[in-house]
Amino acid sequence: MADYNAIIIGAGPGGYVTAIRCAQLGMKTACVDKWVNPEGQSVLGGTCLNVGCIPSKALLDSSHHYYFLQKQAAEHGIKCEGLNIDIAAMQARKQDVVKTLTQGIVGLFKKNKVATIQGTARLMGNQQIEVTAHDGSKQVVTADNIIIATGSVPTQIPVAPVDNKSIVDSTGALAFDNVPKRLGVIGAGAIGLELGSVWNRLGSQVTILEALPDFLAMADRRIAGAALKEIKKQGLDIHLGASVTAATVTNNEVTISYQDKQGEQKLVVDKLIVAVGRKPYTESLGATEIGISINERGFIQVDEHRQTTVSGIYAIGDAIGGPMLAHKASEEGVMVAERLAGQKSEMSYETVPYVIYTHPEVAFVGKTEEQLKAVGIKYKVGQFPFAASGRAKANGETNGMVRIIADANTDSILGVHIFGTSASELISEAVVAMEFEASAEDLARTIHAHPTLAEAIHEAALAVDKRAIHA
Ligand code: FAD
Ligand code: NAD
Repeated sequence: MADYNAIIIGAGPGGYVTAIRCAQLGMKTACVDKWVNPEGQSVLGGTCLNVGCIPSKALLDSSHHYYFLQKQAAEHGIKCEGLNIDIAAMQARKQDVVKTLTQGIVGLFKKNKVATIQGTARLMGNQQIEVTAHDGSKQVVTADNIIIATGSVPTQIPVAPVDNKSIVDSTGALAFDNVPKRLGVIGAGAIGLELGSVWNRLGSQVTILEALPDFLAMADRRIAGAALKEIKKQGLDIHLGASVTAATVTNNEVTISYQDKQGEQKLVVDKLIVAVGRKPYTESLGATEIGISINERGFIQVDEHRQTTVSGIYAIGDAIGGPMLAHKASEEGVMVAERLAGQKSEMSYETVPYVIYTHPEVAFVGKTEEQLKAVGIKYKVGQFPFAASGRAKANGETNGMVRIIADANTDSILGVHIFGTSASELISEAVVAMEFEASAEDLARTIHAHPTLAEAIHEAALAVDKRAIHA
């Protein structure tokens, strides 16, 4: 008999959620993780809690308060004099948030009777896993089912080698102990925009170099256009179609050479963040040695039920590709756990929401107009600006809009795109509507509380049928 019914490798949002769900369903469960924090302590939570979603949002929130007090409080009749920043205190608060949440997982594991095994797991075949603890000691554990949730790490580019002093990755950029005067960022994706915003709000002069000619290529074009305009207005200097050819460090300065439409350019900064994506992490896991296929981009290959090419071994989250998002990783884990328990769970990738936590935020779910045009689906669009929302006006946050795309024939909602304050919260209504295959008319007939920002969704749904009331 195996030691466990299920062992999960990795305690990020994919792994720890899978472990809890397996245990809830009556499986004897263990979760192995090797993460060690800068103080040398083992911690759960993976990238998301330690160096990803949570610390970035803590800094976004702190920096937004500073930005608000500096630039917007006066409109509300609030005068702030002698405003200054204590980066050490801001960073300590961020770490405190991280500590509370990572310790929360310890509590959840105890409550659900998930065993925690600290160390690095290596697959040995025959459902055996060798775990090497931080002190070098080894143990072998066995499980009926193994779920790999080993996540991802930042992608490096040879032209800008990360030294985590002058040229940093996202982890380094979350830990600056002072505000760099001039900050360069390679990549205008989620990390570049979020961390670029944090340091811009705190006083850095930020320049972002993005290789693609389009801003936020995955997003609705109008939403991306509105976001670009606003983010630039906030002071982020964004260069599209910029291809970095070299970044060299001399005397604590980074000189970046890049090529754009105007030709060869140079930029000198005090710190450079490399934010060009993440790559799956399967190092020292021994996956291929036991027959697990890994594709040319390093992702573990899985079937529709997330089973790898070895029976009884599953993989989820960033390690298998698709959107590299915490909620996608968690839901895949839930699906695997429930299927192991004999349920028929499925996961809908069509309704995975995307959010970029700039201010205002960009959030979307479903298809864009371009995607629908490409496959010849006829659609109609309803749009509503926050400038026409009473609540947005009262809040002094009138930037942005909601766009709802519905099938021209059936009226079913195919995509919802938002640029606006609290878009990250508002998008959930659209996700629920799409999960239940709602039509724009369904949303238009749903009563929304007044005054709320969500009324903009209601109005956009009415606008699909050209009957918005307030615009
Ligand atoms: P991870 O969170 O990477 O966890 C993998 C775990 O596996 C780690 O703890 C690691 O120690 C462990 N591990 C790896 N190999 C082994 C081994 N052999 N033995 C034992 N343990 C092992 N996503 C969002 O949805 N929203 C956001 O706002 C967001 N913000 C982000 C901000 C930043 C700065 C970054 C970097 C990422 C952000 N992400 C965000 C992405 C999100 O963090 C990832 O999509 C998510 O963490 C993936 O979860 P995972 O469980 O697949 O892997
Ligand atoms: P990303 O894929 O979101 O963006 C990377 C950007 O870098 C792209 O726009 C790409 O065109 C550009 N790029 C790539 N190579 C380049 C080069 N050589 N020169 C200039 N530009 C280049 O990746 P990221 O921002 O690093 O984030 C990593 C992952 O973490 C993403 O998958 C993202 O989904 C996830 N994440 C999510 C959130 C969120 O949900 N809010 C926040 C942060 C990170």
